[in-house]
Amino acid sequence: MRIGVPREIKNREYRVGMTPMGVRELVEQGHQVQVEQGAGVAAGFGDQAYEQAGAVLVDDPRSVFSWADLIVKVKEPQPNECGWLSADQVLFTYLHLAADRALTDALLASGCTAIGYETVTDAHGGLPLLAPMSEVAGRMAVQAGAHCLEKAQGGRGVLLGGVPGVSPARVLVIGGGVVGENAVRVALGMGARVVLLDKSLPRLRQLDERFNGALTTLYSTTENIEQQLAQADLVIGAVLLPGAAAPKLVTRGMLASMQPGAVLVDVAIDQGGCFETSHPTTHDDPVFEEEGVVHYCVANMPGAVARTATLALTNATLPYVEQLAAYGWRHALQDVPGFAAGLNIHSRRVTCAGVAEAFDLPQ
Ligand code: NAD
Repeated sequence: MRIGVPREIKNREYRVGMTPMGVRELVEQGHQVQVEQGAGVAAGFGDQAYEQAGAVLVDDPRSVFSWADLIVKVKEPQPNECGWLSADQVLFTYLHLAADRALTDALLASGCTAIGYETVTDAHGGLPLLAPMSEVAGRMAVQAGAHCLEKAQGGRGVLLGGVPGVSPARVLVIGGGVVGENAVRVALGMGARVVLLDKSLPRLRQLDERFNGALTTLYSTTENIEQQLAQADLVIGAVLLPGAAAPKLVTRGMLASMQPGAVLVDVAIDQGGCFETSHPTTHDDPVFEEEGVVHYCVANMPGAVARTATLALTNATLPYVEQLAAYGWRHALQDVPGFAAGLNIHSRRVTCAGVAEAFDLPQ
């Protein structure tokens, strides 16, 4: 199969869809791989490494798009890239369509088959291609939040771990999945007091055991959210309803009870965000203030730690790319448990329930 890896063009996106290590595996399996020149440079993978792995380097992204049967990317295609996709191509990347009507329409118009990393499931219902980036974003959320809490950044001037004689900061994590658990791990490691809310009691039990009493778990209700918000220095939004827009769990009205200079990090912003006052930001201009509360809502957080994130992403996507390349998308989706849930668009129709519901489109 012909596999194309274009350079990412989204603002401050430094990751690349495939490492040279991944390219080498595919070439050894008899596939052809084209990589756009400079695609991996920002993640520390030079053109030479791709050439040594067996890829052909191409300087024009349009040639990569027009040549490949399968395009492997990181972020959703940007408007000009959507125009280069065609009906006989498979696109394999993060899509997050439920939060983006314009992109959904552009992909429908292209006629391509679009498989979204974020809705692929595994045999246990987990999200194997979202998990590595969620691990990264969860760990980063605390780092970013701690920075935003500094006075010069508009925060309330609180150190997460406190010092002897001064209380540590209070961190509230809403959603105890992969992002939430990783955020808890780092926040506890930095010495903060951490409360986590989730709707799933089995998950709360699991986390309670895992953190051995260091973490306070609460069932997620509006009342518990309201009570916790008033005391929190840093709130991390980490909920997910797979394939659907994130529920708005913190309303504008609730911010009035928060301490001025408290910080919200809305990791769920790529699914529309779980705070009513959130809107997506970029690494160039990551924060804004609403009702006296600092908001950090970067939609591609792992892009800032591109090397770690690219290595983690290829580790997870490569087995799926290998299946697509070896057997074609129809067989691969049929044969690999959970892979079919990744199909978001085919034959100019939305094939993912959450996306169809978000825009009231037929499925
Ligand atoms: P996950 O499925 O592992 O966890 C989501 C959790 O939310 C589950 O435990 C679920 O029970 C819980 N939940 C659902 N409804 C809830 C509610 N009303 N109250 C409290 N908890 C609720 O998902 P994840 O991998 O942790 O991802 C979380 C979000 O982070 C997703 O939207 C994902 O796309 C996003 N994400 C963003 C970035 C970024 O750069 N901004 C990077 C990675 C992941």
